Amino acid sequence: MYKHEPIFLQPVLQERIWGGQKLKTEFDYEIPSEHTGEAWVISAHPHGPSKITNGPLAGKTLADAWNGHGELFNKSKENQEEYPLLIKVLDAADDLSVQVHPNDQFAREVEGVPYGKTECWYVVSAEEGAKLVLGHTAQSREELESMVDNGQWDRLLRRVKVKAGDFVYVPSGTIHAIGAGIVILETQQSSDITYRVYDYDRTDAAGNKRELHLERAKQVTTVPHADAVVEQKEVAIGDLVEKKLVQEQYFTVYHWKLNGEVEQKLNHDFLQVSVIAGAGKISVDGKSFEIHKGSNFILPYGLGAYKMAGNLEFIVSHI
Ligand code: ZN
Repeated sequence: MYKHEPIFLQPVLQERIWGGQKLKTEFDYEIPSEHTGEAWVISAHPHGPSKITNGPLAGKTLADAWNGHGELFNKSKENQEEYPLLIKVLDAADDLSVQVHPNDQFAREVEGVPYGKTECWYVVSAEEGAKLVLGHTAQSREELESMVDNGQWDRLLRRVKVKAGDFVYVPSGTIHAIGAGIVILETQQSSDITYRVYDYDRTDAAGNKRELHLERAKQVTTVPHADAVVEQKEVAIGDLVEKKLVQEQYFTVYHWKLNGEVEQKLNHDFLQVSVIAGAGKISVDGKSFEIHKGSNFILPYGLGAYKMAGNLEFIVSHI
């Protein structure tokens, strides 16, 4: 019988031309280069599955656990052939390309993968004046196509200022880009399908531009753009303040702030937990685990009650 404990995961660090060093300086992750853009902190995606670091499954990947130990996730429902979610921390030292992702139907029919990509971002840190791209101004598909074809990016793209603690919900079909100086924790469907719309005409050392995917981008972009309305609710549980950031079809995401202690029962199939500030511990069945900024773990199905103590901030999600 599997003894229930939190399943701690080791992040997979990904080099990106727009990446920087904050995944080391802010999160203390071992970065492979000075251009490290992404840490896939809770991932079963084949492009970078996280490894389990404790318990009977230590050394296995999250994908191994999902495939071989479905009981840890109460995996019984339909449409759960692949692990559904992916959590990343992104450090944008430079602007990311402007992009859009397909929905599930388009991803299945055109790309042959199970999931499209709806995502959302919690801004962990942002430099003064940092901006991101969210949505566009075109009122019809014809207008969108004409503005894209004519490179009218300043007219087309909506730019939004952000600061630490902001939350941004990005349903599939939303044109978006994370801007320079922003570190975010991203909760998304487990998909790696991106259609690049605009890359600021940047070239690499060899003078080459990155590939764009304009035809598919035009097909999947929602027109006209409408800002998603998310209702955020805050409740106190012991010394924990829980703020629901979004609850939608694919995921529910919370911000937790703990100053002191809390005891809770797991009442979801499984819970994904990322520590974004502070330090403390989590205890299950009298066994304690140190946690700190940069720790990521899953509370598996059937875990029961758990206690946490410390001064900590988390982003937490479930399906
Ligand atoms: Zn994206």
